[in-house]
Amino acid sequence: MESADRESRAGTPVTGPELQALVLLKECGALKQGHFLLSSGLHSDRYCQCAALFEQPDSAGRVAELMTECLPRDLHPHTILTPAIGGILWGYELARALGCRSLFAERKPGEPFSLRRGFHLDKGERVLLAEDVITTGKSVMELVPLVEAAGAHLLGFAAIADRSRGEFQPSQPVHSLVKLNFNVHKPEECPLCREGQPLEKPGSREVQAAPPPAGQ
Ligand SMILES: [Zn+2]
Repeated sequence: MESADRESRAGTPVTGPELQALVLLKECGALKQGHFLLSSGLHSDRYCQCAALFEQPDSAGRVAELMTECLPRDLHPHTILTPAIGGILWGYELARALGCRSLFAERKPGEPFSLRRGFHLDKGERVLLAEDVITTGKSVMELVPLVEAAGAHLLGFAAIADRSRGEFQPSQPVHSLVKLNFNVHKPEECPLCREGQPLEKPGSREVQAAPPPAGQ
């Protein structure tokens, strides 16, 4: 898992497309430094909200072009398939950069993903699944049965950022432009809480006062 550690290891230079993507993500405010409450309940010193990238189509398009530099030359996908809603814009930009088709799957609460709106996969079609940020990989994995049911050929996964810390290891290859290894802590062990840094809840404007230092 050497490559998965690259970004977090102090002093190890990140170069090429990954570095350029990190710069773009920081510039548009998608990658933030601070003190964040993650949906897992853990606290983190960084946060990635790709919606901020898609506010800037030029930057998003550039990130998609950088992604193509990280994909095998012989991949030749016919179609990018993403889970709605989060993956749609990423899949669209990536499909534009690769010159292929862009589809998304959607679902009603409690139901499996399905292809609607006349979307269709053909037998033997080369399909690349895409997601902006892979955390657990649960959403993209739920698209695999759609590819299999159509008799299409699953090429693997493409993400702007992989923050699964190497824990997302499906049988097909995972291609990611950026590896994000956030420093995450249980609230009671969080050094940022101890320093009294206000806790930000991403996705809302809410900033909470830091909880009292642990163990006191
Ligand atoms: Zn904290």
